[in-house]
Amino acid sequence: MNPVLQIESLPARETQVGGMRILRALPRSRRRMVGPWCFLDRYGPISFTREKAMDVGAHPHMGLQTVSWLLKGEVVHHDSLGCEAVMHAGQLNLMTSGAGIAHAEETPSENSGELSGVQLWIALPDGHRNMTPVFDHYPVLPSASLPAATATVIVGEMMGATSPARMFSPVIGADIEFQSDQPVAVPLQRDFEHALLVLKGDVAIQGRRLDRGALHYVGLGHDELEVSSHRDSRLLLIGGRPFGEHILMWWNFVARTEDEIAQAREDWVNHRRFGDVHGYAGSRLASPEFINAVPPNPAR
Ligand code: MN
Repeated sequence: MNPVLQIESLPARETQVGGMRILRALPRSRRRMVGPWCFLDRYGPISFTREKAMDVGAHPHMGLQTVSWLLKGEVVHHDSLGCEAVMHAGQLNLMTSGAGIAHAEETPSENSGELSGVQLWIALPDGHRNMTPVFDHYPVLPSASLPAATATVIVGEMMGATSPARMFSPVIGADIEFQSDQPVAVPLQRDFEHALLVLKGDVAIQGRRLDRGALHYVGLGHDELEVSSHRDSRLLLIGGRPFGEHILMWWNFVARTEDEIAQAREDWVNHRRFGDVHGYAGSRLASPEFINAVPPNPAR
């Protein structure tokens, strides 16, 4: 028997990254992870003319994958492996930091003047968190056809459509675009926890409209979700098997102990481990002072 559907709505927090206003939906104080997902920023939609909409200088990562996904516009990625990748809407930039990598992301000089997207992090399990870093650009992703909606499978699998993105634990990430006012049964995995973020338009579940400024959490034990929406609305679905490892998050690092974090910070300050981002002309980001890490991150 399915448990009664309970949706826990977690208001996102407004903050700034690289001069851009963003909504931080994960981590929040009441819920820090959804499966292996440990970070979710929503930015845009914005229009701009001369200035660079996004300019995030070189900074390090450890113990995680960054998932960059656009609804509109362009972002160029540069990293310390020497990779450069321009990402357009509907394409995935996936950076698996492993033991350490540095990258910068900015609006390319040739751009559409629009930007709308999300940036997420996935914690790497113990067996892979110290792996050699790797960057992947996926220009095309598969989609699952639901009645009255199309789900682009960013990571994981839905209804036989499997994303080519390399993953290290059971996970789903999908961008669902609605085509009509018909209700849509969105498939879930019973052994996954899930969360929803409205990207565009209006979405309701069991007659309740989902607040666009919040992440909506659905616990284990459900195999589908009845969603009402309208044409052109978009909904981000993330989920995964509950992450069985106790993680610590601080700044851009996912670790297991405070010593690992302190060491990673030292290595960034002293130009060790993470390498230099030669493709990016701006300056590298300075690390904040390390005081303490809370599991995973204090929702400041
Ligand atoms: Mn980053």
